[in-house]
Amino acid sequence: MSRPLQVTIAGAGIIGASLAWRLAQAGASVRLLDSGRMGGEASWAGAGMLAPSGEFDRKTLWTDLALESLDAYPDFVAELESESGASIDYRACGSLESADSPAGWERLLERSERQRQFGIACFPDGLALRYPNDALVNPRDVIQALRLACLRRGVEIVEHAAPAPLEADSSPLVIAAGAWSGALDVRWRGSPLPLPPTVPAKGYLLGYHLPPDSLGVILRRGHTYILQRSTGFTIAGSTEERIGFDRTIDPETCRLLHARAATLFPALAGRAPEECWIGFRPATASGEIALGRLADSPVWLAYGHYRNGILMAPATARRLAAEIAA
Ligand SMILES: Cc1cc2nc3c(=O)[nH]c(=O)nc-3n(C[C@H](O)[C@H](O)[C@H](O)COP(=O)(O)OP(=O)(O)OC[C@H]3O[C@@H](n4cnc5c(N)ncnc54)[C@H](O)[C@@H]3O)c2cc1C
Repeated sequence: MSRPLQVTIAGAGIIGASLAWRLAQAGASVRLLDSGRMGGEASWAGAGMLAPSGEFDRKTLWTDLALESLDAYPDFVAELESESGASIDYRACGSLESADSPAGWERLLERSERQRQFGIACFPDGLALRYPNDALVNPRDVIQALRLACLRRGVEIVEHAAPAPLEADSSPLVIAAGAWSGALDVRWRGSPLPLPPTVPAKGYLLGYHLPPDSLGVILRRGHTYILQRSTGFTIAGSTEERIGFDRTIDPETCRLLHARAATLFPALAGRAPEECWIGFRPATASGEIALGRLADSPVWLAYGHYRNGILMAPATARRLAAEIAA
């Protein structure tokens, strides 16, 4: 009998953990390492919009991955719930995007024309555009379910792993350490392997405890969005700063974000957010997603999903697992 494929994955966010689960399903023996807590960084912070409509206006690798993932999400969630026994708050609720000026509205209409050509459905609805296929998931539920499903499939999960150089041998080594990936010390045949550099893109989110069903769709306008979990917990985002791994929470940034959110969703006016948190979106310096095998080496890259890693996890895992296990 041949030995199962041995795979090490550095980084147990939603990308590394989804891949670990898929590889274990394919019969691989998987070691999933995290220098912190599994899913404790961007994948804990993310809002969980599954909304290619707000992100893409031309066909690229990103767009393909995003649309493939959006289609795959209902089955991904159902299978994960069934394997883990945990429930995941997922809703195909659609989104409504509005503009804050007539010129902005014209831009939205033009964008929607381009988007229709590569399969993003959209129609005007009052003073907004409705994107009926957008959806929502609670990424913290996904991480919890992935932990259980991985354990049931025999994945070895090592949290709080001490930082050490990662020596690649003949077995696949996957780099899925989000915003930290580019700085990892990875060696092969005794030499350091240069990895595509990453940049942390810090973002704030605010949370409000509202009654369940008080907001049905995702609301978006410019850089502001509001969404609601099934419990009624309502999230407003966001901001972006490229200032390194600075975990400070600035009250003034929260105040300005709250003011934008209350303009978009007046139910938030006159109340203060109960929670505020930040996370580091994994951007790459080039702006390209780092996905696939690093030339002629046993090292695979799975990072740089930037604002869409929650959305893109199912398709990323499915594609990479198939390539690695082939
Ligand atoms: C405010 C905000 C809102 C967002 N909203 C959305 C959204 O609505 N929809 C969406 O699709 N995406 C959203 N995102 C983006 C999404 O959260 C990320 O793209 C996604 O979580 C990236 O997952 P990841 O597994 O690559 O990275 P992470 O979740 O950051 O995981 C990387 C892991 O690697 C670990 N690590 C670091 N260094 C090492 C090392 N040396 N060795 C081993 N492990 C290491 C870290 O501890 C971490 O657990 C949002 C992000 C933010 C910050």
